[in-house]
Amino acid sequence: MTEQACKLVNALTPGHDGTRVVATPPVGRRAEVVRDLLARPDYKPQVGEAAADGMVALAESLRIVFAAAAVGDLDTAATTVNVLLREMGSVPQLDRARGGGWALHFHGREPDLVVGWGAGIAAGLALAIGSDLAGRLGLCQADPCDRVFVDTSKNAGRRFCSTRCQSRMKAAAHRARQK
Ligand SMILES: [Zn+2]
Repeated sequence: MTEQACKLVNALTPGHDGTRVVATPPVGRRAEVVRDLLARPDYKPQVGEAAADGMVALAESLRIVFAAAAVGDLDTAATTVNVLLREMGSVPQLDRARGGGWALHFHGREPDLVVGWGAGIAAGLALAIGSDLAGRLGLCQADPCDRVFVDTSKNAGRRFCSTRCQSRMKAAAHRARQK
């Protein structure tokens, strides 16, 4: 779920992706962008304009969580996640897993796209922040980029959103050394 959180933040909140300016998808195109983001081969959600706006608002809250956690401000990250958990009414539930057995999912207070996704994502972030995985929520350090990521590296030393940003910073550092 933290991976989905990254996807939403990176596609729906304004800022920079590398050196490219990112704008929130304009009203009228939002629903399509959100639908493509969430779709999987076995899951094609119906996304209306209101739901798309709700997803943009959710992504803005999620960005606050990532940005705070990335600088070690876990108080802000935790408070923001707590608000989301309450808003979405996240409830743990065991659902039949596809391959047999049971899987733990978090459901929202009502069968609504934003609430459902928000409930699952907020619970995923709560589990990360409440464990030693808090430091795994990151914000790209390749100025001006501000895309977010989950650090799944062994040594938890990831600093950039992508290999593209990493190479750009490496090249910049190299140029700086040569001066
Ligand atoms: Zn980046």
